[in-house]
Amino acid sequence: MSGVRPGEILVATGMTHPERGTVSSPAAPLLAAALGRGEPDPGRRRVRLHPVNGTAADSGGGGAVLVMASYLDLNGRAVGLGAAAHAGDRAAVEVCAELVAQWAGLLRSRRLLVADADPDCAGARAGIEATLRAVREAPDAPVHVYGRPVASVSRLARLTAAGVAITDDLDAVPDGGVVVFPPHGVPLPVRAEAAARGLGLVDTTCPLAALTHRDVAAYVHRGDTVVLITGARDTVAERVSVSQAPEFVLTMRSAAQAAGLQWSGADPDRLSLVVQTGISVEDAAVMIGTLRERFPRVRGQHYDALCYAATDRADAVRMVAGTSDLTLVLGAADDPDADHMEAEASAGGRTVRRLAAAGDVAAAWLTGVNAIGVVPTRSAPEELMTQVLDALAGLGPLSVVTRQVRTGPRPGYGGPALTAPALPDGTVIDA
Ligand code: SF4
Repeated sequence: MSGVRPGEILVATGMTHPERGTVSSPAAPLLAAALGRGEPDPGRRRVRLHPVNGTAADSGGGGAVLVMASYLDLNGRAVGLGAAAHAGDRAAVEVCAELVAQWAGLLRSRRLLVADADPDCAGARAGIEATLRAVREAPDAPVHVYGRPVASVSRLARLTAAGVAITDDLDAVPDGGVVVFPPHGVPLPVRAEAAARGLGLVDTTCPLAALTHRDVAAYVHRGDTVVLITGARDTVAERVSVSQAPEFVLTMRSAAQAAGLQWSGADPDRLSLVVQTGISVEDAAVMIGTLRERFPRVRGQHYDALCYAATDRADAVRMVAGTSDLTLVLGAADDPDADHMEAEASAGGRTVRRLAAAGDVAAAWLTGVNAIGVVPTRSAPEELMTQVLDALAGLGPLSVVTRQVRTGPRPGYGGPALTAPALPDGTVIDA
């Protein structure tokens, strides 16, 4: 057996078996990370991930001991777990035995339910593509996005790699440069200033967001005060909506707020409601109902104007979590989007774990678990999903399925036709 020295433990990324031949070990990163956390405690030994060029027959016979377990997958390929230590380091050999026994006890077939809920809505995805297209079409002009797009780290990294800068200050955009309005739009004064400076403008404002902005302006124009039904937290998208007519827009964040609403100066007979995009339609519907009870003459947006992106995503996550023994939320510990998805997944007391790396999966999480839900969030790099699925595939045959929720219009009955907007190409003006 190759290369294991006293004072170290090799976690095998592959092995050979006297009868089964080559044994792959996709779960090796899980075992190595577990040792790194002290599960079981490797002592002061170095832990290395490495192929082990030996067979079980070698174990104990030479300079090293390999402890392994393997099974044949549905295609007859050998998959397994293994760890090796120097034969003279008996304590390390015992750690290897304990490690492999612990994880081998988890080998079984499982279902993996992946929430097919892209963290980035259709509008966000289209905005990123339009921005990249603007870079290609104006290769000599510096391209800035005004305001951080609400998008996943992987898509934002594509912007950075293309040389796109993100700014909250138009002064940062040099004359002759291109400024991109992100999918949630920009406040009216920013739009006006960019035009006045003669900057190249690429407007990737999502059609649904633009519709909301237009509705706010139109309702104020007809003499109404607008009640903007929105989420619990102030967001940049909300600020853009309010900027259409700041003096005539009141924000409503909860049904309870409507019940006790006292808006000085607002005529209760001249109220219009507008729903902020990006919030749950179900939450909005409750607030609309309360608002109507309190102000029977309130008017405004039709339900067809609502964006279902956030609702569909949350429903998909709840559905996956609801039929899983354990749900893994992929994302950073400090990511508000992952916080939100974790809250959705854990509704009803479901077991949910957050992980930023595949190796975060602990053996104790998987005991008795037959169905695992997996939920991507904006802070999870694209490759993390693959790494998690690959690692779990090393713990027994997996059935990997996806679940999606998609709200759309019923043909012939109207409906939210703009659920998944196709953006205009991103018009470059005077670039
Ligand atoms: S309106 Fe809906 S689809 Fe458009 S950017 Fe906002 S959340 Fe995404």
